[in-house]
Amino acid sequence: MFETTIAGSLPKPGWLAETDKLWPAWRAEGAELARVKRDATLLWLKEQEAAGIDIVTDGEQSRQHFVHGFLEYVEGIDFEHKVKMGIRNNRYDAMVPVVVGPLRLKGRVHQTEALIMRNHSKKKIKITMPGPMTIVDTIADRHYGDKVKLAMAFAGLLNQEARALEKDGVDTIQFDEPAFNVYMSDVTKWGIDALHVAIKGLRKVKTAVHICYGYGIKANLDWKETLGGEWRQYEQIFPALAKSKLDQISLECIHSKVPAELMRLLKGKDVLVGVIDVASDRIETAEEVFGVIKNALKYVPKKHLFPCTNCGMAPMKREIALAKLRALAAGAALARRKYGASGEKKASGKGNRRR
Ligand SMILES: [Zn+2]
Repeated sequence: MFETTIAGSLPKPGWLAETDKLWPAWRAEGAELARVKRDATLLWLKEQEAAGIDIVTDGEQSRQHFVHGFLEYVEGIDFEHKVKMGIRNNRYDAMVPVVVGPLRLKGRVHQTEALIMRNHSKKKIKITMPGPMTIVDTIADRHYGDKVKLAMAFAGLLNQEARALEKDGVDTIQFDEPAFNVYMSDVTKWGIDALHVAIKGLRKVKTAVHICYGYGIKANLDWKETLGGEWRQYEQIFPALAKSKLDQISLECIHSKVPAELMRLLKGKDVLVGVIDVASDRIETAEEVFGVIKNALKYVPKKHLFPCTNCGMAPMKREIALAKLRALAAGAALARRKYGASGEKKASGKGNRRR
């Protein structure tokens, strides 16, 4: 109960890539780069285990960016001639690659990371991939000529990789869709359908979608200022997500202006509740984390509540991310003691002994 997990990414060590950056340059190349990626994946795997995280990730140590890490493995994309495009409804400009032909996977995308984790951990393991809507919002198109067609083409490739990851022994596959609170009407029109294509045929794995208001970078903070005192964007998409075939929804909660009662609209789903703020370097106390869980329990049954981070921790300092992992586990442990079935038994047992 209250199994802990993280949204996905963790900071890259200075010997792997530039630090404190969203798009860091690698410190090595070729076979040496493959070796340091493996070292960093193992390091974070063991740090998560030691901190007490229950469902661990590869920390996204092998990808430069959460979207382009996938795109690098796709044929039909021109990375040489990037174009400037306003993304997330023109919240910020990014230099993006261009789709120039039919899309096809060059090979396996995350098998290396999945097997490192499977061979070195008895914990449940999770791999994250960008969702179709977020991908098409982060790439220019000169071939398909239709956003939905393009999204469905990417969804097919995600499905191919997801099925292979299931065979590798991955327990949870999560799709990151920060675009879901930007294009709310598209989410219900085709965004969830695209995710259904991405998870088609999966039998054993849990499937998750992470939606959020983005990292704590300036463009996001400025955008958040424009959203008013209460962020109710999710109200438009949660009922559709509740009806979807996905098992889990990951969202931000602590220090968020999203009204917590909106989680009620996710009835029947596992909710990965953000109890760790990734936009601040302040380390949460176990009591604070417990407090967020306690409040979320008003809207999410305990068997469906998974304490998580608000978003990825890639742009943070390593020691801060590590301290936040420990805070996450400590707060969940408090909640288990307070609400867990074993806690209740122990409490009554103690009472009996006292008599
Ligand atoms: Zn996020």
